Amino acid sequence: MLCRMPSDLTGFIARLPKAELHVHHVGSASPRIVSELATRHPGVVPSDPDALAEFFAFRDFAHFIEVYLAVVDLIRTPEDVRLLTYEIAREMAEVQQVRYAELTVTPHTSVLTGIPIEAFTEAIEDARVAAERDLGIVLRWIYDIPGEFGVPAADATLGYALDHGPESLIGFGLGGPEVGVPRPQFESHFAAARAAGLRSLPHAGETTGPETVWDALRHLGAERIGHGTSSAQDPALLAHLAEHRIPLEVCPSSNIATRAVATLEEHPLRTFVEAGVVVTINSDDPPMFGTTLNREYQIAADLLDLDEGGLAEVARTAVRVSFAPDDVKSRVLEEIDAALAGA
Ligand SMILES: [Zn+2]
Repeated sequence: MLCRMPSDLTGFIARLPKAELHVHHVGSASPRIVSELATRHPGVVPSDPDALAEFFAFRDFAHFIEVYLAVVDLIRTPEDVRLLTYEIAREMAEVQQVRYAELTVTPHTSVLTGIPIEAFTEAIEDARVAAERDLGIVLRWIYDIPGEFGVPAADATLGYALDHGPESLIGFGLGGPEVGVPRPQFESHFAAARAAGLRSLPHAGETTGPETVWDALRHLGAERIGHGTSSAQDPALLAHLAEHRIPLEVCPSSNIATRAVATLEEHPLRTFVEAGVVVTINSDDPPMFGTTLNREYQIAADLLDLDEGGLAEVARTAVRVSFAPDDVKSRVLEEIDAALAGA
């Protein structure tokens, strides 16, 4: 039997066209992008690349929150939003070979910072159009409720989606901590978003048990689950997810960083696959968790013993369960086939 060296797959993964379905806007700010923002707004965050790399190095979850909030504080103007969005798209397109991404943005945070929702919407849309034109990457938006701010934030986010959302807004999400933030309190917000044609894409079961995933399904009408890690504890839930083909957006390195899972060896990805659950592989907040989408594909290959064909199927699954326009899906699927043929 051929024993394949991991490095064989690394090159293939780096070339493989991909769709990214679970990745956060501010959480994708790389040291390079933050350096530009810190130069604009001198203060706490260093702009020197070496100092920034040290600042970014993942230590623990508390430090991640510190980095995240420091970056939030650097996004003060619509031009900052535009720069962040365009540069994230550039790194996804050029380094990770992402052809299509559903990017989770949290407009409420920017509005609290003082950026009017009209200016925020214009800035992300300007970046989206420019990125598609310049880089060939197609972006769509998920507006998420920062759950820790409760129902008022949900009211505001629903308003931003329904009254100001651009046509490229495809989903309504729910992020932030799960402990102490019951999903059912947002039932009416998700119902209104779904009635307006948005897809229900909440986080659930990342740091709480499988009952939170059930809540997301029953109360929020979830069509995909962000993380859903604890679903592995509930065979009936796994069977339900498999039967209804509700995908889990799996982000392995994030799960380790947040301690949702103790070690990669204990990650339930294989359990999901063996139960017939549809999974996608994603990066969540990649620079802040010291990872990339390419690395997450490598981890998936290790956990599932995948070869090139298996990795291509992981990439195809993300395209198929995305809410990309049909022509984009067809094009990216063809590109994946071509990459596999050339492997
Ligand atoms: Zn997330």
